[in-house]
Amino acid sequence: MRTFALAGNPNSGKTTLFNALTGSTAHVGNWPGITVDKREGVYKGGKEHVEIVDLPGIYSLSPYTPEEVIARNFILDEHPDGIINIVDATNLERNLYLTTQLLEMDVPVIIALNMMDSVEKSGDKIDAKVLEQRIGVPVVPISALKETGIKELMERAVSMPPMRNGRTVLAEALSAPIAEAEKYFAEKEVSSPVFHAVKLLEGDELETSSREAKNLLSGVQARYGEDLEATIADERYKYISANFSTAKQKAAKPVLSKSDKADRVLTHKIWSIPIFIVILFFVFHLTFSENLFYLNGFTESQAWMPTMEDLGYGETLGGSEIYSNFGIALAACFYDGAVFSPGVILTNLLNLVLNYITYGIGLGIEAAGAAEWASSLINDGIIGGITAVLGFLPQILTLFLFFSILEDTGYMARVAFILDRIFRRFGLSGRAFMPMIMGFGCSLPAMINTRTLADEKERTATIRVIPFFSCGAKLPILTAIAGGICGVFGFDNVDVITYSMYLLGIITAIVSVIIMRATTMRGETPPFIMELPAYHVPGFRNLMLHLWDKTKHFVKKAFTIIFASTVLIWFLQSFTWNWTFIGADSMQTSILASVGQLIQPLFTPLGFGSQAGEYGWVFAVAAITGLIAKENVIATFSVLAAMFVANFEGTEEGVEEAIVMIQNTTVTWPALIAFIMFNMTTIPCFAACATAKAELPKGKFKWTVLFWIVTSYLVGSICYTVLSWWWTLFIWLAVAAVFAALVILKNKGKIKLPALRRKKRA
Ligand code: GDP
Ligand code: MG
Repeated sequence: MRTFALAGNPNSGKTTLFNALTGSTAHVGNWPGITVDKREGVYKGGKEHVEIVDLPGIYSLSPYTPEEVIARNFILDEHPDGIINIVDATNLERNLYLTTQLLEMDVPVIIALNMMDSVEKSGDKIDAKVLEQRIGVPVVPISALKETGIKELMERAVSMPPMRNGRTVLAEALSAPIAEAEKYFAEKEVSSPVFHAVKLLEGDELETSSREAKNLLSGVQARYGEDLEATIADERYKYISANFSTAKQKAAKPVLSKSDKADRVLTHKIWSIPIFIVILFFVFHLTFSENLFYLNGFTESQAWMPTMEDLGYGETLGGSEIYSNFGIALAACFYDGAVFSPGVILTNLLNLVLNYITYGIGLGIEAAGAAEWASSLINDGIIGGITAVLGFLPQILTLFLFFSILEDTGYMARVAFILDRIFRRFGLSGRAFMPMIMGFGCSLPAMINTRTLADEKERTATIRVIPFFSCGAKLPILTAIAGGICGVFGFDNVDVITYSMYLLGIITAIVSVIIMRATTMRGETPPFIMELPAYHVPGFRNLMLHLWDKTKHFVKKAFTIIFASTVLIWFLQSFTWNWTFIGADSMQTSILASVGQLIQPLFTPLGFGSQAGEYGWVFAVAAITGLIAKENVIATFSVLAAMFVANFEGTEEGVEEAIVMIQNTTVTWPALIAFIMFNMTTIPCFAACATAKAELPKGKFKWTVLFWIVTSYLVGSICYTVLSWWWTLFIWLAVAAVFAALVILKNKGKIKLPALRRKKRA
């Protein structure tokens, strides 16, 4: 099977084309450089099957970024049978810069002139035939999004002759030095001698590693000038504008596109930030709110609310309630005085189904006459833990859907642009915000995506704060605890709490980066050059692929890591140190309780330590299990709560178990807020830690862990103390002021902090 590689600039539509060709489930997004991994698939639409490899998005083939090195080495070393160079026709000149370099390699190239639908809409014209004549390789107009021209592209691709000698587009003036270097490489019998020759003249560090090559370069530089690199870049652009602008015809009267009009508002100097905050709020309102709106102007007290009688007293078995009046139970999923948000409705529906399933399993266990420990393991441990986590899937997906829409439309790229404008002077660039925003999905790809940051220190600081952008796995913590706060303390806007927590996470991240960039992580903030892609209507298929990926990942995790963890928690909670099964009866003597009680005092400054009473250790335990996977925090809570409730007879009916447990720990709502913030900002899950360790420079990981511990402890303490006693705000502000003053004085050289000296070994 022949192999073709897709090469092109970031955002030129590579992934979209790749998906159209291979029907694969690769992620499609607007972040430049999102395709860091190598993705492969098979195109089966033509006579012959062709293997397709999606290379990372790149602007050139110089070895300045890892993406460039990956793409370059793939073409040079793996010898694909051809390159499909995808070119964004709305940005023709800039995209052709890469093309001029690809043409220097000994490989057949075909140009896929993408986004032709947008070009047509704008009224511009691009003549592919003229372009083809000038460049000398096939040019096929396509739209990856609308899937037009793709069949022709592939037909022409497979009919290209198998060999093509690289040739340069650079002007006569450079031909002598190039010929000299080319001769050197040709004698060494490497392939693509022209490409290597030009790169050598550019002073490319991959080419000049040998002494021989270095000497050759300095010889050439002595005769033809030092700064050949700049001359070469110049010549490429000259060539492009001289030849290819003829293929393009601007619309007679340039239409201010809808995108440009929208950007006048959405990236407005002043209004853009409030607009972003409002958009974010609507996203949370639609995902979490239990009172999206009241019907017919009813106030809460006038509206019909299903009572226990309406529902029909149900049976409770295996921790799930089954009501005899199914119709009303179903209605109650949508409405209880106020209409729920889509996220809440989907959650309720899923939980209704899960209740029936658990109930069924409970019946089975009863019929089988299982031993007490076995039914406890299945009901409280396995089912309790897994359903507690699975139950959040609808809200995770709803939130994720909104984020994907914001990303795919191109809005998130604007957010990076807006934030860049504000925070650049503090050493935080828009480029760094892009991986951070990706962190809302999952920290792992977000950390990997920081490879697009050129400054190592900026990259380190960014990786450290990515976990503060609350990922999907942390959402259950937020929702469940926020729900607990509402249930116990009679506040009824879950969405306001979750939204504030997300914002607080963002603020913590920004403040931390600013502090690091002013102290330990000083460095350049390279300019943020990014063309804002035109707004797109997100493709339905892509959105569904995103969601499906997320669902698969989540469900798999629930039945593996979380399953194993809940069984472990159940076990530690059901047995004492001398291995007697205590069931749910005397939970305070379990192994888990004794360990939890040991660490419980550590959390006193955060409000859920010693003051949380004799059952307060459940918080400590939940926070620790979250280190494995963040879903565990709530799975643990749920397992413990199920056992807990069995402990307290006569609990109010219909009140959720977790709420009962929270009430019995006597924590206050500020402590619960602190608990959420602690979990959001502390050491992330194992997988994220491993990724951070791999991506951070050597020796930085241990400091990063320390940073996470200190930050989460501080943020938790600040939340707890300020929300409990408002005047403590001034103490924290005073501490911050002293800290800032110290930093400023130190930077001015007025004070010297004692240097940390390492002991020398004799
Ligand atoms: P990559 O970074 O090169 O992988 O680019 P993507 O495939 O992620 O595409 C970037 C954006 O361009 C996405 O929002 C796509 O929906 C959009 N896009 C891709 N191809 C086309 C096209 O042919 N026409 C239009 N109008 N948009 C496209
Ligand atoms: Mg891509």
